[in-house]
Amino acid sequence: MPKPILIWPDKVLSTRTRPVTEFGPALDPLLEEMMESLRAAEGIGIAANQIGVPLAIAWVGREDGTFFEIANPVVLEKSEPVSFEEGCLSVPHEWEQTPRFAKVRVRYQDRTGAFQELAAEGRLAHVLQHEIDHLEGTTFVDHLSQLKRGLMRKRMQKLQKDRAAEAAGGHVHTDDCDHD
Ligand SMILES: [Zn+2]
Repeated sequence: MPKPILIWPDKVLSTRTRPVTEFGPALDPLLEEMMESLRAAEGIGIAANQIGVPLAIAWVGREDGTFFEIANPVVLEKSEPVSFEEGCLSVPHEWEQTPRFAKVRVRYQDRTGAFQELAAEGRLAHVLQHEIDHLEGTTFVDHLSQLKRGLMRKRMQKLQKDRAAEAAGGHVHTDDCDHD
């Protein structure tokens, strides 16, 4: 069973992660767990804190469907602002235009601890910004208006209630249920 992905607003998601200090095989189990949850949810990126591990490491999806890991990422340069329609595994079924930068240059460490630098644009640039945000304790909804965020919070509370009821094996109670 893949580890469940935390649903926003969860405190872990809004807390800055700790830097990764131990590299190499020590990271393999965590990266595998993250990948399992990512694949199960059919996402294009996942940060460790989304499965409850407050470490600065994430998987980032390339346009060709492959993934690479980034640890302790830092944005070195960003270009002009754009907006991009974004969703998040921690905020299921919600898509919103989110302010981002068109291009970013990022420095990070790979799973061996080696420093890498990457200039990205297009979808890859947006996924990088989204995952780096997560590691800093920011979810994409934090970039939206208070009104939109408030409505999303309500929908997420309902989603969690429904999931909890489902997990308990009970009847899922929704507003449009027929009562008799
Ligand atoms: Zn996300």
